[in-house]
Amino acid sequence: MFRTPHILIVGGGYAGFYAAWHLERRLKQSEASVAILDPRPYMTYQPFLPEVVAGSIEARHVAVSLRRHLRRTTVLSGRATSIDHVSKSVHARMNDGREVELAYDTIVVTAGAVTRTLPVPGIAESAFGLKHVEEAVAIRDAFLTALDRAADMPKGPARTRALTVTFIGGGFAGVEGFGELLSLSRAALKRYPEISPDELNFHLVEASERILPEVSAKTGAWVVRSFEHRGARVHLRTTVTSALGGEVILSSGERFESDLIVWTAGIAANPTISKHTDLPINQRGLLIVRPDLRIGTDDHPVVDAWATGPACTTGDAWAAGDNAAVPDLTRTASPPYAYTVPNAQHAVRQGKRLARNITKTLRGGVTRPYRHRSLGTVATLGLGTGVFEAGPVVIKGFLGWLIHRGYQVLAIPTWERKIRVASVWVTALFLGRDVVSLASVQRPRHEFVSGGRLELRTTSEEGLADAA
Ligand SMILES: Cc1cc2nc3c(=O)[nH]c(=O)nc-3n(C[C@H](O)[C@H](O)[C@H](O)COP(=O)(O)OP(=O)(O)OC[C@H]3O[C@@H](n4cnc5c(N)ncnc54)[C@H](O)[C@@H]3O)c2cc1C
Repeated sequence: MFRTPHILIVGGGYAGFYAAWHLERRLKQSEASVAILDPRPYMTYQPFLPEVVAGSIEARHVAVSLRRHLRRTTVLSGRATSIDHVSKSVHARMNDGREVELAYDTIVVTAGAVTRTLPVPGIAESAFGLKHVEEAVAIRDAFLTALDRAADMPKGPARTRALTVTFIGGGFAGVEGFGELLSLSRAALKRYPEISPDELNFHLVEASERILPEVSAKTGAWVVRSFEHRGARVHLRTTVTSALGGEVILSSGERFESDLIVWTAGIAANPTISKHTDLPINQRGLLIVRPDLRIGTDDHPVVDAWATGPACTTGDAWAAGDNAAVPDLTRTASPPYAYTVPNAQHAVRQGKRLARNITKTLRGGVTRPYRHRSLGTVATLGLGTGVFEAGPVVIKGFLGWLIHRGYQVLAIPTWERKIRVASVWVTALFLGRDVVSLASVQRPRHEFVSGGRLELRTTSEEGLADAA
């Protein structure tokens, strides 16, 4: 009996969300069924996380609901733990704890990357990453809570430590997060007459000789100067050798205590992809794809006799985004290829191209290669200042920031998201931004269980329940 092919998308971030969205638009229901697997029920619009840190955007607004916007796609809440393309099945741990095997005819692997961590003592225990909504919210709350605490403290090491912020890693996420938090600090201090701006210590630590590798060295140097002008310190050619107990030790020998440490030192291959699949991966743990985004090489679109696994017999496997090594045809026309950089600009377009190519394949048509010339780079450095660079054109300061906002609000998917984000920006123009910490949401039962009794104020909710 005829059965419609089943397409399974692993990862509902940029590339996965756009692939599903465009498959829905292109395919009739009778042509294929589509399911998307992700532990989160939303796609995170990561370029807005720095503005969530700053309180310029509501945390909820950067989460694009999969169920609301993917009406014909089955949304599965769980995490793939391995992909076995020989048997065409994905092993997944669902959010309710079940372990299941998900069968497919065609697989789309768009599970993105993870934050790259290095074994620096103290980092795992105390630092935050900046790749997910909860991290952005926690950084903001930790900073605002520190201001509240410091305002009541006498001058001394504890107060200095509370007012010291350290970002490690000067790529997109680090620079934008650092700039936005710096900007929040200036706005917040207007409400804290007890704290002088000179008491704030902002450190950005970068191992290489420059920050923001996505822009030219000259523009990167301008960004460093602009941070320094705003009272921050940028440590280039410097690494953090330890952060044990909040004491940051730099390779230069300098040391200082810092209550808030944010780790933004790059991305690494997603371990599910790099370690738990028979699909072909390169030395960096990324899926090898052809220019048309089908997994495999030009010669072997079908996964066949790969070093990493047994023979696979069909070509129904596709990948895009940060977990794939996608040939950049604007730089190299034939192997050995240069690869597209891992960013949202590519992930979105690759997701769309992938949907078109899968549709063509199902209908017996010819696929087309992915080709996209970068539109340039935009970055926010805090409210009212940013940078835009496209080839020789560099626009810095207020205009660069306006271009950043204009580009990002147009880029966030769906009109309902664009309107929500823009409306918060407009109200903030007249009313300013919120500067209260909601760190207490981490302990929602505290007041209820303790009944306001001081002796029960511990940080452990379980402890509270026991004591009650
Ligand atoms: C703070 C920050 C700012 C940025 N700013 C910019 C910018 O200004 N411009 C730009 O172009 N790029 C920017 N980027 C980079 C950009 O966001 C990423 O390149 C882009 O999100 C990659 O898309 P993706 O679909 O490959 O992965 P993601 O968007 O990360 O999506 C991966 C999805 O897969 C899911 N997943 C992971 N593992 C599994 C699994 N085992 N099973 C099932 N699902 C899984 C995740 O939950 C996630 O939903 C920024 C990134 C950050 C962190």
